[in-house]
Amino acid sequence: MTQTVNLPAFDWPTLQPGWVWLCGAGPGDPGLLTLHALNALRQADVVIYDALVQEAILDWAPQAEHIYAGKRGGKPSAVQRDISLRLVDLARAGKRVLRLKGGDPFVFGRGGEEAQTLVQHGIPVRIIPGISAGIGGLAYAGIPVTHRDVNQSVTFVTGHDQSGNTPSALDWASIAKGSQVIVIYMGMKHVAQIAAHMRAAGRPASEPCAVVTNATTPDQQVLETTLGTIVDDIAAGNFEPPAIICIGRSVLMRQVLDWQGMAQGEAPRNLDPLGRGLPAEAESA
Ligand code: SAH
Repeated sequence: MTQTVNLPAFDWPTLQPGWVWLCGAGPGDPGLLTLHALNALRQADVVIYDALVQEAILDWAPQAEHIYAGKRGGKPSAVQRDISLRLVDLARAGKRVLRLKGGDPFVFGRGGEEAQTLVQHGIPVRIIPGISAGIGGLAYAGIPVTHRDVNQSVTFVTGHDQSGNTPSALDWASIAKGSQVIVIYMGMKHVAQIAAHMRAAGRPASEPCAVVTNATTPDQQVLETTLGTIVDDIAAGNFEPPAIICIGRSVLMRQVLDWQGMAQGEAPRNLDPLGRGLPAEAESA
């Protein structure tokens, strides 16, 4: 029996019949859902969810019909349009529709297109952001996506486009030259090419990299490696998607911030992995 916890007192919005709420489910751990998402789960007649949404989250909408809309990379875009039109049909049938997508619906998830299709069909929508894997997944691995001594910017990129190739629209050389830290979604298939682009643009073979698979779930695995060894290490360790790849020195911070390892009794490996020689929050000399 699902234990029902009341939502805290707040003027929670009502999911009206005929509406579609497009909602992020976070990277995996059900605890990373927002309260707006929980509020939506409790009201929905139908939940249409993606491959990366954890089953436990659906258990929080026992009254709703659950429809799987998972797609695997490389399938034709018609499938995406079918999902959007299904949402239109359900809304027109007077259902309270919750469209649940992994991470944040507007981060590499085609949520913008789905929402646009709905609006084009006159369906009212609400957008509920979620924690994106490229931020929350790295945090669960103990990697701060920005860190004062490392980066003042971060670049999020997708490792492949609709065709399944590395995105031709991306200028990988400029990304390599201009981005202090690079966070790559859907990068596993083309990691060799991506690493080669980075090296060709002058990023050193010794540059720290991490691969976080199934981030925030019980199956989470983290590989710490370098640009020079990432391809071999992924193969040797059998790391499989879904994965976030992070390139940059912030990866070193995991040596002191692997909080999941520490919770299991591991000692921090290095209290000052960036070699500052100063207490963490002291201003530089
Ligand atoms: N909207 C999602 C991203 C969808 S694209 C978000 O904001 O997170 C799908 C890609 O996201 C995957 O190929 C992978 O690169 C990444 N991803 C999503 N969930 C993940 C997880 N739990 N662990 C690692 N990577 C994940």
